[in-house]
Amino acid sequence: MPETESEALPDWKLLADISPQLIDRGIAVTDTLQAILPSILAVDADDEELGIDALKKLLRLSQQAIEYLLKTQSVLMEERDSRAAELDRNKIQVKKLINDLMNKKMSNSSPPDTFNCPSCNKKFLTDVFLMDHQKRRHPETAKASEASGEDDQ
Ligand SMILES: [Zn+2]
Repeated sequence: MPETESEALPDWKLLADISPQLIDRGIAVTDTLQAILPSILAVDADDEELGIDALKKLLRLSQQAIEYLLKTQSVLMEERDSRAAELDRNKIQVKKLINDLMNKKMSNSSPPDTFNCPSCNKKFLTDVFLMDHQKRRHPETAKASEASGEDDQ
């Protein structure tokens, strides 16, 4: 089964190809350390027949991986803190917007609804005033709408 063999951990070929010196020089650090982490975790020093050089290399790679993880962790924690601060600012902003919206709604609803004359578009505070106006100014319309009830199609 060649497929499972190539996926088997630890990936000794990968570990052999990787150079701690290149990682120290900052070459392809993130990708490399991401790639070897599973293999480092899979190494069983009792099962494998490892020479002292291989063990030293594994130790160095492990240290580099730990350094990398710690660095990543501190970056993530900073990111988390700045996101939390941003979230707080957004919450305050949302509260303020809701307040503004409520105030606007209240000030919008404070002027009473007006009744517009369909014939001349003049505004009236009550429907009684509008009906009076219609009877005075547009007697034909008033009569027609009275005759047809509420049906004004
Ligand atoms: Zn009118």
